[in-house]
Amino acid sequence: MSLLEVNDLRVSFRTYGGEVQAVRGVSFQVNEGETLAIVGESGCGKSVTSQAIMGMIPTPKGKVKSGQILFKDKDITKISKKKLQQIRGAEIGMIFQDPMTSLNPTMKVGSQIKESILKHQKLTKHEAIEKAIELLKLVGIPDGEKRYSQYPHEFSGGMRQRVVIAIALACDPKLIIADEPTTALDVTIQAQILDLLKDIQQKRDSSIILITHDLGVVAEAADRVAVMYAGVIVESGTVEEIFESPKHPYTWGLLKSVPKLDSLEKERLIPIDGTPPDLFAPPEGCPFASRCPYAMEVCVSHMPEIQTFTSDHYARCWLNDQRAEAVKEFIAVGR
Ligand code: SF4
Ligand code: MG
Repeated sequence: MSLLEVNDLRVSFRTYGGEVQAVRGVSFQVNEGETLAIVGESGCGKSVTSQAIMGMIPTPKGKVKSGQILFKDKDITKISKKKLQQIRGAEIGMIFQDPMTSLNPTMKVGSQIKESILKHQKLTKHEAIEKAIELLKLVGIPDGEKRYSQYPHEFSGGMRQRVVIAIALACDPKLIIADEPTTALDVTIQAQILDLLKDIQQKRDSSIILITHDLGVVAEAADRVAVMYAGVIVESGTVEEIFESPKHPYTWGLLKSVPKLDSLEKERLIPIDGTPPDLFAPPEGCPFASRCPYAMEVCVSHMPEIQTFTSDHYARCWLNDQRAEAVKEFIAVGR
């Protein structure tokens, strides 16, 4: 069953230069107990999508223009701020990239977890403290009782990220959104944190949306993948489908740059040439056309439609569209 369903989501930001269309008609679902990875370069709209789910699009500049976000069948774009706040934190937990900025440096870590528990659950102070210590143990921090009274600077980077995860879990969320949760960490610690997330998911049967630019992380931790580019999902499928039979040239490009988690090969990433299009005035056709080695004329003028390959796997690319040849000829003839 799907816990979260996003339908045709559009999010824009007003800036001095005009309106940036950051998310342009994104649809996906997250089933109970699964991890969906949303992957893409920075600025592709993946973080904005997660902010929309959390109701954290900064107003008045940012705006959910249209679309639905159904959490347990309720459209959370339509409910009051107060209701949304109740859901956020109580049913949806968020893990951010940099543990240093998401923790309060002047407050003991135990107190930060305890406050988060008390905000959403009717427990006594004493019960909340016990639960906080339990959570520290759950996220793999030994000596929970002693660590409870320490400050963030007394923890290593990996241990701090474990504390952030404990805070996100404080209210037994059904959905955890993890935005680049391991980006600030070194490779060995990354793998440990991903293992921890997997472990928690199994123990609690929660669902995870994992936002990342790193396909190595996806391979490690996800069940399904949505590849985003310029505010659009260009390909989606199970991890096996995306790694074994990718259908979109952008995914091919990303796969060439997959670092091996265990061999520290990060610096040898092969970047995809060029930059994403300007989202003030997104192109009419395929957003990847300006960087795609396979671009045809039709790609520039017409947005490719979704082509489905299996019940999970689809892509938006003219290469998979049988009409492409015909359209190409049509355009050639029409000139
Ligand atoms: Fe490349 Fe055309 Fe496919 Fe876009 S639609 S990815 S430009 S081949
Ligand atoms: Mg981001």
